[in-house]
Amino acid sequence: MKKITILGSTGSIGTNALKVIDAKREEFQVLGISGYSNFELLKEQIEKFNPKYICIGNEDKAEILKRMYPEKVIYFGDDGLKSMGALDEADIVLTAISGAVGIEATVEAIKKQKRVALANKETMVAAGEYINNLLKEYPKAEIIPVDSEHSALFQSMQGSGSKEVKTLIITASGGTFRGKTLDELKDVTVEQALKHPNWAMGKKITIDSSTLVNKGLEVIEAHMLFGVDYENIEVLVHPQSIIHSMVEFVDSSIIAQIGVPDMKLPIQYAFTYPNREASSELERLDLKRLKELTFDQVDSTVFKGVELAFYAGKVGKTMPCVFNSANEVAVELFLKGKIKFLQIYEIIEKAMKQHEPKEADNLEIIKKVDNETRKWVYDSYGRD
Ligand code: NDP
Ligand code: MG
Repeated sequence: MKKITILGSTGSIGTNALKVIDAKREEFQVLGISGYSNFELLKEQIEKFNPKYICIGNEDKAEILKRMYPEKVIYFGDDGLKSMGALDEADIVLTAISGAVGIEATVEAIKKQKRVALANKETMVAAGEYINNLLKEYPKAEIIPVDSEHSALFQSMQGSGSKEVKTLIITASGGTFRGKTLDELKDVTVEQALKHPNWAMGKKITIDSSTLVNKGLEVIEAHMLFGVDYENIEVLVHPQSIIHSMVEFVDSSIIAQIGVPDMKLPIQYAFTYPNREASSELERLDLKRLKELTFDQVDSTVFKGVELAFYAGKVGKTMPCVFNSANEVAVELFLKGKIKFLQIYEIIEKAMKQHEPKEADNLEIIKKVDNETRKWVYDSYGRD
């Protein structure tokens, strides 16, 4: 029986992970779950999966849970999340929280030498260098990517040495606004930006997909996870979202991972790796019904998310952290209707311009830069 902690169980990845587990109760057990604001869903999940450890956003709600479930261990807030990442009994910790707030719990799980099933890409972007150093210090810990592109790259690389890898080709759906001009994007609404053509996801990542900042975050994530130079990472627009990413090898062979766009597959693979398992939750791809698979370049004159990420990644140090933090606040302000869609790029660009990059090799500096960047964006754009 593998015991699994799910950080962010009430989100899109979290609920998919619970479906994966529900289909394999003989193999997986839910050890702990964490939600933030969705109290009702968290309660339903407690009833259904009976986890021993639970974490919620605030103390008042935690008190209610304590009264309801006196036999369980209830945590709350950021410290609670860290405790959840550090549970000794866990075999696997799935990090499915949205944003840099997930970093510290991930760090705790690595220190406890756990398998981290990593969905929370912001962690690898903001703190990738630090996390990689930590993995050397705690060699029994491992990160198995859950992000579909990185799972695809990871799967495509199985059986090959890293020296044989030439290029990582990350595919992008192109997001909601694929094909639109700058002029057409000037006044787009939150509702329009939240309509993703192929994937049903949380709000933040859906906006990131529409700006292609998500793809930018994934470029940095890929660099950090696989140690491939930025010169050897490519992004291709592939609107059908069937090829989840590809690896080109030194002999020019390209290996791709292909399947229906469904996060349950990469989630389950991160749980069962190095094995593959059948599941009633996993749908077959009917190749006969596919009419075409197309590929195109990113239109960087309109969608600056990828280009800005390459810039941040190549500068390195704390610049990827600034790229991520500025974007997180920009997306929050866009969702609140305080800025326009295209200002997301302006904010990221200006935040990076005003930043003096520092070595990003410890958590304190990352937290400081994260806070300073957030404050800078709020002060510059977030006032009523
Ligand atoms: P959601 O917004 O759907 O879920 C986020 C989860 O984190 C919820 O459980 C939420 O709790 C919790 N949460 C939010 N804020 C906090 C906080 N401050 N402290 C503690 N917990 C918090 O996001 P997704 O599931 O879409 O994405 C999760 C991560 O996975 C992101 O990093 C995303 O980039 C990545 N990812 C997602 C994919 C997807 O298909 N959704 C695909 C690839 C990667 P509550 O809802 O109770 O408030
Ligand atoms: Mg992805």
